[in-house]
Amino acid sequence: MTIRLYNTMSRKLEEFKPLVPKHVGMYSCGPTVYWNQHLGNMRTFISNDTIKRMFIENGYDVKHVMNYTDVGHLTNDDDDSGEDKMEKGARREGKTVWEIADMYIKSVESDMTDLNLITPITPRATDYIKEQIKIVQDLESLGYTYLIPGQGVYYDTGKFSDYGALGGQNLDELRAGARIDDAGKKNPTDFLLWALSPENSKRGMEWDSPWGVGFPGWHVECTAMSRAILGDHFDIHTGGQEHIKVHHSDEIAQSEPLVGKPWVSYWVHFAWLMAKDGKMSKSAGDTLTIPLIKSRGYDPMEFKFMMLMGSYRQPMEFSWAGLDAAAAGYKNIVKKVSDLLNQKSDKESKSAAIGSAQRDTTAASKASEIINQKSFDLWHSKILGTVSDNLRTAEALAQIQELLRDGDVDSMTKIAVFEFVDRLLGLQFIDRAKKLIALESAPVPDEIQKLADERNAAKSAKDWARADEIRGKIDAAGWTIVDTKDGTKILKK
Ligand code: AMP
Ligand code: ZN
Repeated sequence: MTIRLYNTMSRKLEEFKPLVPKHVGMYSCGPTVYWNQHLGNMRTFISNDTIKRMFIENGYDVKHVMNYTDVGHLTNDDDDSGEDKMEKGARREGKTVWEIADMYIKSVESDMTDLNLITPITPRATDYIKEQIKIVQDLESLGYTYLIPGQGVYYDTGKFSDYGALGGQNLDELRAGARIDDAGKKNPTDFLLWALSPENSKRGMEWDSPWGVGFPGWHVECTAMSRAILGDHFDIHTGGQEHIKVHHSDEIAQSEPLVGKPWVSYWVHFAWLMAKDGKMSKSAGDTLTIPLIKSRGYDPMEFKFMMLMGSYRQPMEFSWAGLDAAAAGYKNIVKKVSDLLNQKSDKESKSAAIGSAQRDTTAASKASEIINQKSFDLWHSKILGTVSDNLRTAEALAQIQELLRDGDVDSMTKIAVFEFVDRLLGLQFIDRAKKLIALESAPVPDEIQKLADERNAAKSAKDWARADEIRGKIDAAGWTIVDTKDGTKILKK
């Protein structure tokens, strides 16, 4: 199947051609672990996961690396100034930088599990200090660096003629647009490769180096970790859109003198999830997190559904009303899948009954599993084709609604397509549908049944106030009463 991705470098939708047939090496800039990850970060992690799942469903072996930045990311990304975000986090919480890193790595791992993301390889920047020092030494011997005493080793972007190509600007344009730099850099776009620790103060994280005690610059870590794990060249590099102009331009400037050009084949960037008043960001103290939405009763799958209803290249604004709408849409599909599963089990029990009459239960239950292969193939390639074409997930979700409505496709085949959709998008429709069925058939405790009977009696006596009062009690006990045309149903909430 043709796979196309939008490549920021060429500014075109390009057909994907792997470096090694049927293999994909992919590196994603991961979280700086100094605070809880917000829903914007999650949007990016979901997009990474969707790319990965799309390749896997196309038969590729995917090696996906997403780093944890646990050192060197300064508070001002654009010009490498300010304080190390990790040190800031440690001070805020009265903990060591190492404790902060461990704590927030655990929290992001738990978020990724909640979102059913396939676990990437997750190196920590502090485990690759030797590799980072070696890269700085190699760049130094190639003449790309200079030292500013007391500050650190800088990369001289004036030496790299392609600097800025990813962001579509050359160095002269970037120089013209930059603010006056007072750090003594040769070019405003030059960046720190190795920062020296301030004199007379000890940082929580620092290492010895040929230039003195200090810590690596943020950009050099991604070059080091991707190279150590994926090799000198790899297929895809991803990250949020803010990385185009600085972080990823700097990664390219560091890597290509060492490994040759092009270092990476495809650059994929994700648009932001916005808060009401601008980009959702940790530094703005945004507290919209997966634990928060869970505490408000949302399933993380509903948030993921909301993200996949958008295009990864378009910004999206988060709102609770938007999440409510997505939750309703998601629940609606889950309900329909649970109906399909119920039809399947009805069929299975009928087949088993026939089978036992015929003393051939295996054959009978096999018969109930039969799907219409032609119809399955059609929907499979339609949906996979849509997602493989630059991740048009919103359209794929519309296609699955179409499938649910299609009266010519039998329930067994629809379930088989949903099994594939769950692998492709990781939305756990079948799992949630099974949970719904389990809830709907949960045994009703005697006392709840008694209350329901009393309510029915009150209703028959037209004592609505009493009926409502009893409904309240049932509700408070964690059950819900649904009046259907077949009578009253009691469901676990
Ligand atoms: P950070 O921890 O801020 O370095 O971010 C980790 C990843 O999340 C990076 O790839 C960022 O580009 C991405 N990211 C940060 N904020 C947002 C946002 N509001 N929307 C989407 N992605 C984001
Ligand atoms: Zn990076």
